[in-house]
Amino acid sequence: MHDELTHSRRSFLRGAAAVGVGALAGSVGPWPEPALADTPPTTPADALQRLLDGNRRFIEGKITAPNRNLEHLKQVAPKQTPFAAFLSCADSRVPVEIIFDQGFGDLFVTRVAGNVASAEEIASLEFGTLVLGARVLMVLGHTNCGAVKAALDGTEVPGQISTLYRLITPGIDRQNRDLDAAVAANVRAQAKVLRDGSTVLSNLIRDGKLKLVGGVYDLNSGNVTLLEG
Ligand SMILES: [Zn+2]
Repeated sequence: MHDELTHSRRSFLRGAAAVGVGALAGSVGPWPEPALADTPPTTPADALQRLLDGNRRFIEGKITAPNRNLEHLKQVAPKQTPFAAFLSCADSRVPVEIIFDQGFGDLFVTRVAGNVASAEEIASLEFGTLVLGARVLMVLGHTNCGAVKAALDGTEVPGQISTLYRLITPGIDRQNRDLDAAVAANVRAQAKVLRDGSTVLSNLIRDGKLKLVGGVYDLNSGNVTLLEG
């Protein structure tokens, strides 16, 4: 109990210090405040909201491209504190920072074809959340995903590409030929693998320090839709 109290008092003091700095910066000159505060969101709900706000700016053509200059890169060079982590597809049309209008140091992104939760991805995401402190973890699928489509169709593929199939097919219904349904099912299945396959992640979720969500990104609109459940 004592530790908890000490911790919350420290958190409060840190928060108060951040507010003080922000207020001071606002009074320095006539320039407008940056569109986004540099302080990362500290709760899972705020972290998710920051992502959704960024995606809205992106689809409405109102991006602010925060934290993308060399100056900000220098600021985060010694230490990163990304507020969100992703398990996303390697597809060239899914550049996560652009979709969510974020910049250097904001997102911890693991990308792999079919956004599959293999052991290496789980290890990376444990690092991004437990060690680096990301507050929201999004499994992000997308429309017209080639990896999911190939697994759905059972297409013959060269080399080791079919390795992806054994990670995707258990989570999708191959009797249903609908690709959108398979993409959503794959997101849910990979999220379940993360939750069930990692005690680090499930403990963070249980303790309210991390929110795990699934989303599907529409290649035609740029919109990210959160999946229920
Ligand atoms: Zn894909």
